[in-house]
Amino acid sequence: MIRFLNLHKSFGRHEVLTGIDAEVEKGQVVCLIGASGSGKSTMLRCVNGLEDYQKGDILVDGERVDAHAPSIHRIRTRVAMVFQRFNLFPHMTALENVMEGPVQVLREPREEVRARAEEHLRRVGLSDKRDFYPSALSGGQQQRVAIARALAMRPEAILLDEPTSALDPEMVGEVLSVLRDLAQEHMTMLIVTHEIQFAREVASNVFFLDKGRIAEQGLAEQVLVHPQNPRTQDFLRRVR
Ligand code: ATP
Ligand code: MG
Repeated sequence: MIRFLNLHKSFGRHEVLTGIDAEVEKGQVVCLIGASGSGKSTMLRCVNGLEDYQKGDILVDGERVDAHAPSIHRIRTRVAMVFQRFNLFPHMTALENVMEGPVQVLREPREEVRARAEEHLRRVGLSDKRDFYPSALSGGQQQRVAIARALAMRPEAILLDEPTSALDPEMVGEVLSVLRDLAQEHMTMLIVTHEIQFAREVASNVFFLDKGRIAEQGLAEQVLVHPQNPRTQDFLRRVR
């Protein structure tokens, strides 16, 4: 459902992605791992047009991603993004944050959206916080609202960029647990993570990015437990 075909991306003269070939299939949970600066965030941001790219293609269900074309708005409703730092609207309650996309972007009827938004908040364990503003929520709670907000768009896939790395350790578990549930429901996800143990648990597949290239990809168990590439082996030794 998300295909990368010889994707190249540069910032000025600095080539950050140097020919990515990979595919995230429907229902797969793919964890994207790799050293800092290897291009993980850039690869994710290219998928929903937050960055453009210079060569190659990204296809979402066969439709080419073009950051400068009007079609990008449609692609963004199909592929939702969850950021490291939550990015909630500070002047809106948890419930209003979750309702905003379906009401403003999808133009769906408010009452229907409200019922669904409450259901999504319940799903992430935050029914009792629906009238709270982000400033009154913990980091873990804010991130769960952000996940509910992504789900409210009824996306075909969700991209998550280090969804737990801005959290205090005691809040990591509650967010991972929501992601575990989504994985079990076969929500298609591409997750950048440093949590190798979590990746082993939820990922069906793993991409290991090394200096702008996928040095190794395959089934999670295969890449994380029996890596073939010396660079993957070295990376895993260092992060464990
Ligand atoms: P981390 O694990 O630290 O988040 P990453 O794998 O997500 O790293 P990216 O953020 O994708 O790495 O960055 C890859 C490279 O691209 C880095 O060398 C970075 O400095 C460069 N880069 C990223 N964004 C920009 C930008 N807007 N302008 C110029 N260079 C950038
Ligand atoms: Mg990053």
